[in-house]
Amino acid sequence: MLYRRFGNTPYNVSRLGFGAMRLPVLPDGNVDFDKAVEIMRYAIENGVNFIDSHHFYHNGQSEEAIGRAIKGFPREKLILQTKIGMYNNYTDKQCWELLENALKKLNTDYIDFYLTHSLNWDTYTKYNRQFMQFTQKALDQKLIRYRGFSVHDNVENMKKIIQTGQFQAMTVQYNLLYRDSEQAIELAHQKGMGVVVMGPVGGGTFGYPGEELLSWAGLKQKSTASIAIRFVLSNSNVDIALSGMSTLDQVIDNINTVSNFTPLDKEDIKKLDEIFESRKKLLNLYCTGCRYCMPCPNNVNIPSNFHWYNVANVYGVRKRAEEKYFSMKPEERASSCIACGKCVEKCPQKIQIPEKLKEVADYFEDKK
Ligand code: SF4
Ligand code: SF4
Repeated sequence: MLYRRFGNTPYNVSRLGFGAMRLPVLPDGNVDFDKAVEIMRYAIENGVNFIDSHHFYHNGQSEEAIGRAIKGFPREKLILQTKIGMYNNYTDKQCWELLENALKKLNTDYIDFYLTHSLNWDTYTKYNRQFMQFTQKALDQKLIRYRGFSVHDNVENMKKIIQTGQFQAMTVQYNLLYRDSEQAIELAHQKGMGVVVMGPVGGGTFGYPGEELLSWAGLKQKSTASIAIRFVLSNSNVDIALSGMSTLDQVIDNINTVSNFTPLDKEDIKKLDEIFESRKKLLNLYCTGCRYCMPCPNNVNIPSNFHWYNVANVYGVRKRAEEKYFSMKPEERASSCIACGKCVEKCPQKIQIPEKLKEVADYFEDKK
């Protein structure tokens, strides 16, 4: 396994992190604890020391599965990260209950990195004062060691949050399909923050037999997931590629990739850049995922519809995109848009949202 210092913190982190949000599940949807524990223990035994969760992953069973998996391992050898969604407007009492539950489920006395989840400038403005006050007490009581945030916002707002200097770690999306966060990642690293990349394999997009990518790139690699992880870790400002692993095969593949890591060389990156530039020319729908258009009064998930449309249409991973489109609730899909137009003026990219959603619905639901 490959390790490196996590920003200015004293931690030496494995460059592969275990994201416990896609654990193996039983037919009833509950976590398959036997399998989940088996694959997490395998990862730990083979050098992974950073594990990430959230109190709502798998309806609370993710933290519980981690707690079971880490039993018997020296606690000081492991680095646990979990999160709280302050946007839920929790009372202080609820915040403390969630933290105490997380400690209990994780079977630990302290959490190494406690994150405010899915931050954007709006939620930072509304809820961060409360997060800082609550976590200061948790820090004083040594229940948490460091503060961090995970973020879904545009790069300028990410930079504003980093510049506040209030956090020691950032978990951010970055992958072959989504590279907008590069400048924020660079700034966070410069500021001495630990940088964790979530979705290094595009939420599983590259784990799918999306062989288009390999053939476009002409790169010799046995899985598209491994090329995606190599891409992320080739960015010298990134500390950890956090992969949500569901099977032992994925764990083994990822551990092999990171243990035998060689950065993509200049030629490889150049090839990838050319491919993505040429594909980007096909991109006539430039949605940044900023979510300013949300919420839609009709519950349509506008950015997700546009994201999966682009993934399918521009990058050629249609089957995976189709699965994701139909995994949204019916009311969230593009076909539920009633063209009321309330979202249009909120879009900084001036996207004609109802028209584009119709295009998306036609594309996925074959109503052409
Ligand atoms: S136009 Fe469609 S997506 Fe936009 S607010 Fe109305 S229903 Fe929602
Ligand atoms: S449609 Fe516009 S406002 Fe909505 S997420 Fe995309 S870029 Fe942002």
